[in-house]
Amino acid sequence: MRDLILSLSANRNLSDRELTTILSCGDYDADLAEEADRVRRSVYGDAVYIRGLIEFTNYCKNNCYYCGIRHDNKMAERYRLTKDEILECCAEGYDLGFRTFVLQGGEDPYFKDEIICEIVSEIRAKYPDCAITLSIGEKPRKSYQAYFDAGANRYLLRHESADEKHYARLHPKELCLLNRKRCLYDLKEIGYQVGAGFMVGSPYQTLENIVSDLRFLQDLQPDMIGIGPFLTHEQTPFKDFKNGTLEMTLRLISILRLLFPYALIPATTALGTVSPNGRELGLKAGANVVMPNLSPVKYRKLYELYENKICTGEEAAQCRGCLERRVESAGYRIVTDIGNVKYER
Ligand code: SAH
Repeated sequence: MRDLILSLSANRNLSDRELTTILSCGDYDADLAEEADRVRRSVYGDAVYIRGLIEFTNYCKNNCYYCGIRHDNKMAERYRLTKDEILECCAEGYDLGFRTFVLQGGEDPYFKDEIICEIVSEIRAKYPDCAITLSIGEKPRKSYQAYFDAGANRYLLRHESADEKHYARLHPKELCLLNRKRCLYDLKEIGYQVGAGFMVGSPYQTLENIVSDLRFLQDLQPDMIGIGPFLTHEQTPFKDFKNGTLEMTLRLISILRLLFPYALIPATTALGTVSPNGRELGLKAGANVVMPNLSPVKYRKLYELYENKICTGEEAAQCRGCLERRVESAGYRIVTDIGNVKYER
């Protein structure tokens, strides 16, 4: 196993079967994480980049089977932030040292392109030294272009599963993998720094599916890769499935780091939810980004993709302080610059 890990690290071209072996063997997780950390330090040192997450709407027209803010969840209390509220989050975040704002939300038809562009241009004008990341789902290419022209420069859109059949088991028929991929390649062509990713341990996911995810990522070559454990939500069709595990998520973070030494990989909120020190372990396994919440506290519980989400009761400043301690305890250092991806030379 140690040989396989070193071979993955040196060549980044294991066979499907070899990848499956690493994915299914828990005994060598310490070796795997150690090698991933070595590679991460060789590219990014001990830097951990912070992104201020603004969850600006939990309205959604979609019905993803896993997601707590799906349209058909009539129990969800819906909210959307005004432009001024979003700008206040940015102002508070800027003072705390954030130089990336991530605007994430459900696919909310209220936020037409004009409104998104207006919000983006205003943030762009106020904060020329910051990155603006959008994470608002599938749109026509011309919308992505309009947001980009307004000043957005990064986009997060997890592909969720690169296997057609598995994708169709996670989503209703209105949503298809082909369009998801079209979006990702459009975003890349337009010039965004692009993030893809998937949930670990989602219902029906097989190791074969995960290998397909890794192959898809190798083709797309995203700048950012977000993964986190699948976590159940009572008001979804997947309420009776098992949660994804800490161990499998950590193993995959390490494999991603070895396959994509230059990628920006977050230790996600879902990882911190599945285990109290999940994010610290994620950093030690190769992750190099954390995304604390900048949303107004009163809305945080309502952006409930899954149950028991952490950090819903704290002010942004407290979140920032708590994370700083966590990152340092793991042996890394928060940096407050814009934190663009590094490219292979
Ligand atoms: N509407 C946007 C943002 C989605 S929320 C979009 O479509 O891209 C961001 C991510 O949270 C999703 O891509 C999904 O991978 C993850 N997520 C959703 N429900 C989840 C759950 N129950 N457990 C873990 N992660 C979940």
